[in-house]
Amino acid sequence: MNDRDTDSQLHLEILKYGVNQYSILALSIALFLVVIATVVTAYQIAGAVTMSGMAHAQSTSFALRILDLMPFVFAVWGQYTGYLMARKAGAMIIQETDKLRAETTEWKKKSQHEATHDALTGLPNREFFYKRLRDALLVASRNNESVTILLLNLDRFKEINDAFGVKNGDYILSRIAKDMGRVIQPQDTLARLGGDEFAILLYNLPDEATAVAIVGRVQKVMQEPILVADENIELSASMGLASYPDHGNDADMLMQCSSIAMYSAKKGQKGYLMYSPQLNQENPRRVTLMGQLRGAIEENLLELHYQPKVDLLTDRVVAVEALVRWRHAEYGNISPAEFIPLAERTRLIGPLTDWVVRTAVNQSLVWKARDLKIGMSINVSAKDLIDTELVNMLEELVTSTGIDPSALTLEITESSIMADPKRAISVLQRLHGLRFNISIDDFGTGYSSLSYLSRLPVHEIKIDQTFVRGMRTNSNDETIVRATINLGHNLGLSVTAEGIEEEDILMTLKKMRCDIAQGNYISPAKSLPELEAWMANYSVKGRAAHQGDAE
Ligand code: C2E
Ligand code: MG
Ligand code: MG
Repeated sequence: MNDRDTDSQLHLEILKYGVNQYSILALSIALFLVVIATVVTAYQIAGAVTMSGMAHAQSTSFALRILDLMPFVFAVWGQYTGYLMARKAGAMIIQETDKLRAETTEWKKKSQHEATHDALTGLPNREFFYKRLRDALLVASRNNESVTILLLNLDRFKEINDAFGVKNGDYILSRIAKDMGRVIQPQDTLARLGGDEFAILLYNLPDEATAVAIVGRVQKVMQEPILVADENIELSASMGLASYPDHGNDADMLMQCSSIAMYSAKKGQKGYLMYSPQLNQENPRRVTLMGQLRGAIEENLLELHYQPKVDLLTDRVVAVEALVRWRHAEYGNISPAEFIPLAERTRLIGPLTDWVVRTAVNQSLVWKARDLKIGMSINVSAKDLIDTELVNMLEELVTSTGIDPSALTLEITESSIMADPKRAISVLQRLHGLRFNISIDDFGTGYSSLSYLSRLPVHEIKIDQTFVRGMRTNSNDETIVRATINLGHNLGLSVTAEGIEEEDILMTLKKMRCDIAQGNYISPAKSLPELEAWMANYSVKGRAAHQGDAE
């Protein structure tokens, strides 16, 4: 007997029991009436109530005989109705449970689909592609077959997005996704890895010529003009190919090789390139860094630097932004702008963010223990927003360290929110639910619409530094900064300006009632000991400056 049968059997029994209780009540009333009627009839016949009188009454009165049958009638009725009702109700319960089950399965399927597919194009996402790749490699190694990755990045897509707007950009991406789907075999997987990057997993191609033929078909798709805003747009893409077993044995290695090939193709404007070890020499730094990043995270070669954020009303340092650095034996200090994209590409961004968050939280706890009230801003990558790993890790960290989440701000760039707004909003809502502050970084470069902005559970916007730096020479930038500050305030958000390099810009921002300032003019990002020395000095200077302002 399965669960459903046991459930409905139980419901049936309960119902039967309920109905039978009524029949027992009716039975008792009937019995009671029989006794009373017998007593009354015996009294009427003999003028007294005796046992023999009652027996006589029973045997002579027809009405009493009829009444005698009532308890049996009720007993049978109870059994019968109980059975019928229980059956009917049982059937109803089974039907409803079936419906509910079907709905739950549908929901489960839907949420699984959402977690593994890209919302815009409906194609498998990066995570799912990796899973397929790993599965394919497993089968291929058993059967002595090959697996080829074709990695594709659109050329000049950012310019197209800038020129035609993000809606048209989205339209172009989904059109391309659909058209590319038509040129691959059903057993192959086409995925959108993010932004304007796609990948095709090709299973057991007979030879290189077949791969080249597929590349040709994809290129043909790209050349078909797409009509956008009355203009025919012709696209092109750079592609990189890498194969198992020729170029690597595992998913990470193959992805790395295909991206090296793709970058070389882009650089040399070659359309496509098949990976060869010789390409490593053309991008030695990139290849070395990609290969060494995992080790750098594990061996603690990363370091956090901190850049102060100053409240423009009080001139106090209210927070710092944690900015990661890589101390590389050969290349010296490497900027995150160089290795974060590599980490995102090789899926090391998860462990990297993990390290950054834990280190920053520990520092925060140290300051808290010393009674220093300094907020901590942490940068989170677009890729961290895709899965739920980040939220789970943060939740666990809050429980295990007891840190107050409202002392932490998670900075998320506007463009990474807009890459998949639906998913981003749901992750941000969970983070907001955990009481973390959320800041939109590089605001003004990610095309978010006002309707999105008002729906995001954010606390702060950070005006992108290009506008802040441009204020000096470009009056448009000044207008943009002023408008952004007002917009932020109207939405009840705190506004930070970053990239302040000169005093007069700082003063203008103060006049514009910007809330928080950050930039090299105040202080560049510093190592922990340098920052602490600077802060001790600044608290004296800062207050003096504030008093100076007041005079
Ligand atoms: P961001 O979050 O917008 O950080 C601000 C960047 O501007 C930092 O560069 C900072 O050093 C720099 N900066 C601040 N003030 C000035 C100024 O006045 N003039 C100029 N020219 N630059 C200024 P950095 O540290 O190189 O970081 C670059 C980007 O890398 C960051 O941009 C952020 O998007 C990313 N990043 C940094 N650390 C992390 C991290 O731990 N995780 C993630 N996912 N991304 C990070
Ligand atoms: Mg930031
Ligand atoms: Mg920024």
